Amino acid sequence: MSLPQFAQVLIVGAGPAGLCLALALQKQGCPHIVIVDAALQGQNTSRAAAVHAATVEALETIGVADALVQEGLKFKKTVVWSSTHELETASFEPLSKYTKYNYILGVPQHVTEMILNQTAQDRGISVHRPFKVVSIKPSADGSNLTNVFFENGHVLRARTVVGADGARSTIRQLANVGWADPSGEVNTNKKEEVLANMIVADITVTNPPPFPRDSLNLALSANNVVLWVPLPGSSYAEMNVPQGEAVFRIATGIPQERGQPPPAPDTAYIQDLLDNWGPNKVLPLDTPRVEVTRTLWSSRFRTHSAVADSFFAHVPAEGGEGGGPIMLVGDAAHIHPPMGGQGMNLGIRDAIKLAPAVAEFVRAATSSPDTASEDLEKPLAEWAAERREKALTVIGLVKQIQGLMSMPNERQYALGFIPYNAAWIRDTLMGFAMKFESVKANGAYRVSGLGNP
Ligand SMILES: Cc1cc2nc3c(=O)[nH]c(=O)nc-3n(C[C@H](O)[C@H](O)[C@H](O)COP(=O)(O)OP(=O)(O)OC[C@H]3O[C@@H](n4cnc5c(N)ncnc54)[C@H](O)[C@@H]3O)c2cc1C
Repeated sequence: MSLPQFAQVLIVGAGPAGLCLALALQKQGCPHIVIVDAALQGQNTSRAAAVHAATVEALETIGVADALVQEGLKFKKTVVWSSTHELETASFEPLSKYTKYNYILGVPQHVTEMILNQTAQDRGISVHRPFKVVSIKPSADGSNLTNVFFENGHVLRARTVVGADGARSTIRQLANVGWADPSGEVNTNKKEEVLANMIVADITVTNPPPFPRDSLNLALSANNVVLWVPLPGSSYAEMNVPQGEAVFRIATGIPQERGQPPPAPDTAYIQDLLDNWGPNKVLPLDTPRVEVTRTLWSSRFRTHSAVADSFFAHVPAEGGEGGGPIMLVGDAAHIHPPMGGQGMNLGIRDAIKLAPAVAEFVRAATSSPDTASEDLEKPLAEWAAERREKALTVIGLVKQIQGLMSMPNERQYALGFIPYNAAWIRDTLMGFAMKFESVKANGAYRVSGLGNP
């Protein structure tokens, strides 16, 4: 499919954020939306497996929630398992006060993207592939448009450019927008940073652990944690996983002494991690060994956080005026570790909430072109400031969860001589706090995004 010469809105990247923005803009009646992606086809990998209540609410506004809810499992609680106790730490049922989606929806990202792609196609939105953006420049004719250059030589003029092009965003870099951890942290490779390197995998097993299927489970053993999440049976039908065979998402830290994990850990590597830190370490001794039979998808990653200095910019022009607005959404605007499963969620909400602001800008810019740029772009600037604050809140939450999960289970000394064990203190305090239903409901509320939609 050939690319047009002009777009009111050019969306660069057709991941979950880009697709949601296209659907939301169409719903706003915004004309001339073009969405491009550098890849020949969608990434089609599992990655995000949790969709939170605030995100399902947002998806409802673009008519995608029902299809997604139909595909997912409904998790009502999170449970932390250790060799000494089983502790419910978040309870989602009480969220029924605020939403009908009082659960975490478990659905792998490739299924979410499939639904978004199918919906877009059904509504006449086509993703132009493979078209890679390599440069952007303000138009020299004073029109406040941006010239967008593609690898194949095509040039498209756009009134608004949205970078939905992932963590290594070309658009963010071309717009010269800074990108750093908001609290100035860098990865220090300290021994105790057990969750600095992680792997994530979707697997089938013999002897699944007797964890409830309506919960997200965390096996907390000495100096590591294994997340254990049931996935919907239909997730891997295309890979000949028979209907009825259970598929699980696991994620775990890789202690520093083990070195870098392989890029796509295989079954033997994952089995070894489970034998050391998995469910059998926290379940009674006579529990049958959980054995991995198939690795359906796996990946390694380093956990770090970063946020764009601004989600709204102009292309720097050589010695002159800036061009049209450049917006950043999703991973192009913020990244953080996967604890709490927030990344894709925040990106989808950014995108759906950006649509009314962009539609208003396009309407005003075309109907009253003589209005000052600053006035025209006000809704965009307001969206950007608000969404950056929300991203900072999520990054703070994720850092808190990661800090809690990675407390070292060994003797340390305060002031050089007072012995303590941070993991033991955490477990004791959590054991006490979780006796209160309100604490568990509050944990669920924070993770759900309902207070930070
Ligand atoms: C291993 C792993 C595990 C994860 N686990 C979780 C989890 O449990 N929970 C969670 O919420 N999130 C998780 N995430 C994060 C989640 O996958 C991302 O937040 C989400 O994919 C971001 O969506 P996006 O649309 O912003 O970007 P992406 O999905 O990265 O999509 C960006 C798109 O832009 C395209 N593109 C890039 N550059 C260009 C260019 N120059 N021109 C044109 N197109 C371009 C790419 O081809 C791509 O299709 C995980 C990520 C990884 C890698």
